[in-house]
Amino acid sequence: ETIGANLDRTAARVPGAEALVDVPSGRRWTYAELHADVEAAARGLIARGIAKGDRVGIWAPNCPEWTILQYATAKTGAILVNINPAYRTHELRYVLEQSGVGLLVAAQRLKTSDYRAMVTEVRPSLDDVVFIGDGPLFDREATAEALREREATLTFDDPINIQYTSGTTGFPKGATLSHHNILNNGYFVAEAQGWTEADRVCLPVPFYHCFGMVMGNLGATTHGACMVIPERSFDPAATLRAVHRERCTVLYGVPTMFIAELALPDFAGYDLSSLRTGVMAGSPCPVHVMRRVIADMGMAEVTICYGMTETSPVSTQTARDDGLDRRVSTVGRVGPHLEVKVVDPHSGLVVPRGTPGELCTRGYSVMLGYWRQPAETAEAIDSARWMHTGDLATMDDAGYVNIVGRIKDLVIRGGENVYPREVEEFLYTHPDIVDVQVIGVPDQRYGEELMAWVRLREGAAPLTAEAVREFCAGRLAHYKIPRHVKIVDGFPMTVTGKVRKVEMRETSMRELG
Ligand code: ATP
Ligand code: MG
Repeated sequence: ETIGANLDRTAARVPGAEALVDVPSGRRWTYAELHADVEAAARGLIARGIAKGDRVGIWAPNCPEWTILQYATAKTGAILVNINPAYRTHELRYVLEQSGVGLLVAAQRLKTSDYRAMVTEVRPSLDDVVFIGDGPLFDREATAEALREREATLTFDDPINIQYTSGTTGFPKGATLSHHNILNNGYFVAEAQGWTEADRVCLPVPFYHCFGMVMGNLGATTHGACMVIPERSFDPAATLRAVHRERCTVLYGVPTMFIAELALPDFAGYDLSSLRTGVMAGSPCPVHVMRRVIADMGMAEVTICYGMTETSPVSTQTARDDGLDRRVSTVGRVGPHLEVKVVDPHSGLVVPRGTPGELCTRGYSVMLGYWRQPAETAEAIDSARWMHTGDLATMDDAGYVNIVGRIKDLVIRGGENVYPREVEEFLYTHPDIVDVQVIGVPDQRYGEELMAWVRLREGAAPLTAEAVREFCAGRLAHYKIPRHVKIVDGFPMTVTGKVRKVEMRETSMRELG
């Protein structure tokens, strides 16, 4: 099935159900109304000359037009290119050129981002630009018949989306995805949370990333649930306000979003009693944060997902009936119709249960490839169609997966492998530490040494490296104890909420000399 056909079915099944609520502007859509706007935008794309396979860029923060264009492009067979709203002109230019965008749909401005001015700078390389305004996206529309004819030419294996990876470890790569890849993934992620048309999903996660557009939007429209946009870009207070006022049953977020929400001074003032479930994902989910989300936010059934842009994204997910311990400390088991295995990165052989190795994924979710990067594609997906994730994981006898970190973040100190995640989880037990990230920095004697960047509880006395080491002494193996400690207010982050350890390492190397 194509994404467009799936939306047609949902709109026919629950036309009067609420589909989309935009809190900042107060606008609301039922499924019948959303369907009508999507069809109008699809006819608009055809009228502007967009053919099947043409790339259409979207450069905007979360807003209803983002969602409408997502479905409209799918209906015309155009390939939607998601562009990071935090980009500046030179990054925009790179993505437009790399993916070959003809038509760009862009926001006008948001806070300090003057999209219109930046688009003007790259305008000569584009065929066509449409700015998101108050009215409909497109001023002219092809006939309904032209749209039906176009839809008849689509198949579920067609590429319809280029999603750039977060760029946590290097330059973002454009994962090319089909209807089949992302429609199924959105469906199964929502299914695991038991969504129905009674669910109202609060989405502070960016749409330009798979967390928002697949796990959020496609999860909702496959189930007739309602998408709630709390703000244009993440704001913890706006998110909880939206949950409260819109009686949301589901809340999404990366760990740092939940940490920020739980730390709001007026946290107790929000009525979150409508919340039932949700997803935490995107980077390592600290156990203590998961416990607070369950206990203090009332998200009794919250799940953890693990995945990556290249696999549509989700590969593993905790289930509602996994025991509490597993639900807070693992990323669950493999999703329906998928396979995962843990292999020795050198030999490629499956390692014994409990031994760390590289996680590999196979199944419907694996991308078609990186857009116009055949060498990188061949490196990531082997001849048996296994996607090599670059993440280190362990799997227990029952199939529960634990992510121990990225291969690139593994620290080798004096010949011993240290998984930063393990040290981070331990340091979280310090009463004054609210957030911590551990990296390896070059060291003459040991090759690499551990360094912890620590964010302290408000009002806590400064913490010295000695005090941290004393706290670890006798409770962590000596080679896992950080040699360097840096007190910080925050960490270098991607817009998708991932800590850029590469940048932390660069900064630390400069500072340590
Ligand atoms: P790039 O590939 O450009 O360096 P990225 O890998 O961060 O960036 P994404 O595809 O957005 O880009 O993120 C996928 C990665 O996020 C995974 O490979 C994994 O390292 C991490 N991740 C996702 N979910 C989890 C999770 N639940 N626990 C731990 N890590 C996670
Ligand atoms: Mg990646």
